[in-house]
Amino acid sequence: MLDKCPQCDYSLAGLPAAHTCPECKLRYDEASVAYQPDRRWRFFLYPAFLLAVMLVLTWDWWASVGRLNGWIIVSIVISASIVTVLVALGLRHYRVGPVVAAVVDGLYVRLGFGPGTVHPWTELDHPVRNLRSRKVIVPRKGKRRPLSIRDVFATEGDAHRLKAQIEQRISEATRRNES
Ligand SMILES: [Zn+2]
Repeated sequence: MLDKCPQCDYSLAGLPAAHTCPECKLRYDEASVAYQPDRRWRFFLYPAFLLAVMLVLTWDWWASVGRLNGWIIVSIVISASIVTVLVALGLRHYRVGPVVAAVVDGLYVRLGFGPGTVHPWTELDHPVRNLRSRKVIVPRKGKRRPLSIRDVFATEGDAHRLKAQIEQRISEATRRNES
């Protein structure tokens, strides 16, 4: 059972176990599961890293043209920090970090930033588990690249459970298509 929507983080507490997310319309049911890493704050390291690189480059540039004015550097640092904090606050509850979820219409996969995609069950093939790296590979029909699900499982058991659920959902979807 899901306690929040894997796509938009909307709280699903108090809603029926099989329902549609009121916020983003993702359909889920009693058997739906979602996996994502515990430490999602790690994804704020990306903007922080970009900021650091920007600062070093700016500093370097001002130094090289001989216009190193302390107050300019300070104001760049302050405004960049403010922007980073605002971006981090804005992203805190919305669409950040990898997540995978088995829901009614398909496998919802988001790799990091961005909206993510629901891959319909009928477009997927039976998954393979990589035992060494806690990874589940889901082949896609046609010549599309397989989905590589990683960085979301806390244990081997999680990877195993998701693989089993993908198998089951694909079988159900195939049976529905045939009948
Ligand atoms: Zn939602």
